[in-house]
Amino acid sequence: MSICVIGHTNPDTDSVAAAISYANFLKAQGQDAIACMQTDAASLNPESKTLLARFGLAAPEMMKDAEGKQVALVDHSDIIQAPANIMKAELVAVVDHHKIGDVTTNNPIFFYAQPVGCTCTVLNEMYKTAGIAIPKNIAGIMLAAILSDTVNFKSPTCTPADKAACAELAKVAEVSDMNELFMEMLKAKSSVDGIPAKDLLFRDYKDFDMKGSKVGVGQLELATLDQVAAIRGDLMKEMEKVKADGRHSVLLMLTDVVKEGTDLVVLSDDPSLIEKAFNAKLSNNAMWIPGMMSRKKQTIPNLQKAFGC
Ligand code: MG
Ligand code: MG
Ligand code: MG
Repeated sequence: MSICVIGHTNPDTDSVAAAISYANFLKAQGQDAIACMQTDAASLNPESKTLLARFGLAAPEMMKDAEGKQVALVDHSDIIQAPANIMKAELVAVVDHHKIGDVTTNNPIFFYAQPVGCTCTVLNEMYKTAGIAIPKNIAGIMLAAILSDTVNFKSPTCTPADKAACAELAKVAEVSDMNELFMEMLKAKSSVDGIPAKDLLFRDYKDFDMKGSKVGVGQLELATLDQVAAIRGDLMKEMEKVKADGRHSVLLMLTDVVKEGTDLVVLSDDPSLIEKAFNAKLSNNAMWIPGMMSRKKQTIPNLQKAFGC
């Protein structure tokens, strides 16, 4: 049986790249592994699509139900973000860079996480430790994943290890200009033209359990907020639908990557709790939070504090 290597729901570039990279790593170690993702290739986010094309890589296979399978999780270890029935699968490994989630196992497994900016930084180290060469095209998408997760090294999640990994991967991938690669990614990922508001809301969206309240947080990384000015109303309508489906709050981070801040759009049963979380005042359901770039390191910890988690 092949080990299905898979990232979180609504896969981002790290979840795609880490699945490809870790599947290749396991194969190099003589194991049968296959890169998977929780979406079909057509619905994959535009940044990852662009990168797969640029580096000549096939999209991971869609896998939505893990029952009875051997599974390795990358870029997450939360049941809510894992494929369906993950607890009816045989979990064999986790490689991650987030807080430890709530998956459990009956057997000892390979579990490796580091507090760095990207799973691909962790994987780069694993390749080095194991003495396995990273193929050029896989090094390319790993480099891109680190640039994506660290927002070109600007995110507070970025560590010196991420920068060092990028320098090494760029050599292997023969990418001479990382900034050019990042701008190509930003252009692809921030494109909103002709994309339905619902797809934009779910482009990079995760649900979180906050002391029994379900809170959804989406993020759109933009080159400028002007890109979404005309569709704010449509985005709010989609947020309302998602909130109506059993959520205490739905937040959408409209992150201006160039200005380095986030226009936080909020629909909540308790707006003052969200205001308290970010020490800002809502106006027309939104507030500008300077310096806010990272859902993981800024938005979620502030929410957890406010919810008393
Ligand atoms: Mg991710
Ligand atoms: Mg990641
Ligand atoms: Mg991310």
